[in-house]
Amino acid sequence: MRIFKFGGASVKDAEGVRNLFKIVEKSLDLPLVVVVSAMGKTTNALELLARKAYNKDDWSDDLQKLKAYHQGICADLFSDLPEDIQNWFLQLEGTLQNPGKNWLLYYDQIIPFGELISTSIVYHYMITQTSCEWLDARSCIKTNSFFTEANVDWELTSHFISRDLPELLQNGPVITQGFIGSDLTGKNTTLGREGSDFSGAIFAYCLKAESLTVWKDVPGLLNADPKKFKGAELFDELSYQEVTELTFYGAKVIHPKTIRPLAQRGIPLYVKSFIDPSGQGTLITEKDKIATKHCFVFKEDQLLVTLRVKDNSLMDEKKLVKLFQATSHANIKINLMHNSALTFTLCMDDNLDKLGKLKDYLAGDFHVLYNEGLHLATIKNYTEGSFQLLPDMGEKILEQQTRNNYQVLYKPV
Ligand code: ASP
Ligand code: MG
Repeated sequence: MRIFKFGGASVKDAEGVRNLFKIVEKSLDLPLVVVVSAMGKTTNALELLARKAYNKDDWSDDLQKLKAYHQGICADLFSDLPEDIQNWFLQLEGTLQNPGKNWLLYYDQIIPFGELISTSIVYHYMITQTSCEWLDARSCIKTNSFFTEANVDWELTSHFISRDLPELLQNGPVITQGFIGSDLTGKNTTLGREGSDFSGAIFAYCLKAESLTVWKDVPGLLNADPKKFKGAELFDELSYQEVTELTFYGAKVIHPKTIRPLAQRGIPLYVKSFIDPSGQGTLITEKDKIATKHCFVFKEDQLLVTLRVKDNSLMDEKKLVKLFQATSHANIKINLMHNSALTFTLCMDDNLDKLGKLKDYLAGDFHVLYNEGLHLATIKNYTEGSFQLLPDMGEKILEQQTRNNYQVLYKPV
């Protein structure tokens, strides 16, 4: 059994859907689960729609555009707009008409339509070529009600996947959605932006798959973003650990939650190019192979938050415990930190909602100040030559260097 995951860029147009099938067709010797994201930039478009509906702004033109985009792809692949796809759009429209009061809950009721529509289109095309099945991932991927960043209930998810998938897989490849699930009351949930890789890993784990392959628009895992760096190099092989660290620093290759379930079962992860499917790609396994190449990772839109004790007492361990409770409460991931006698400084992804939560939690005891618009650059496994390759960093705000890694937070010029 294999799991394939195709991201939005791979199915951004009709040609992409045909190409997906060409790749799938070559792997029909084993049962196959095909996890697909929303097409192109659909999730961003749905975010905008949800925001407008929630704010009671007019969203009808935006919905028309989104519909026209998908209709265009359908018209190219088959003649009519299949009924189930028309129904998804009607349901989406109905949901847009009734925004509730809870933004995160509402967001999760809208966003999954991207994946539901894309997989329906892929299914309708694929069924003209081979026998296959469509699965609503919400019936298997069970989560808590932590809307927009839901946590998987592994026991239930594993139960439903092993109950439903084997039978479906007898009929051919099963096409399903990445990124989405449902909570115990049946409401839609999502696993965090770009979470389809993680869905692939969930299916791989629960089905004890032979491998997970993530098909991307790059030849595999590179040591820098080829859009920002000339001469980015491909890794043939990397360890789970190395990839986990790279994603922590902000490398956008794989969703950070993907590795753990794979590592638990020793399931290899292949990162390959859907543009050049016969290319070798990168293999990620248990092998404790230290990357010899230096890697460059850039994380944009960072906030530097400084917390200062109000009564001028020391920033001691008890206060630090309180600070970490607050960051955990606000679901803030700390990308870099620094402490001094009276302050604690942390760098986080720009998210003013989360920062607001942190402030509310700490307001009694701490002053909270922050700087916006910063970027974080990391060089993992740096060598002397690495530094010359860094672009102009503007004003350096915070620098940290260990024996292996170098990080700098800077204000771009
Ligand atoms: N469509 C979702 C997103 O764009 C999930 C994914 O692509 O993995 O965030
Ligand atoms: Mg995507």
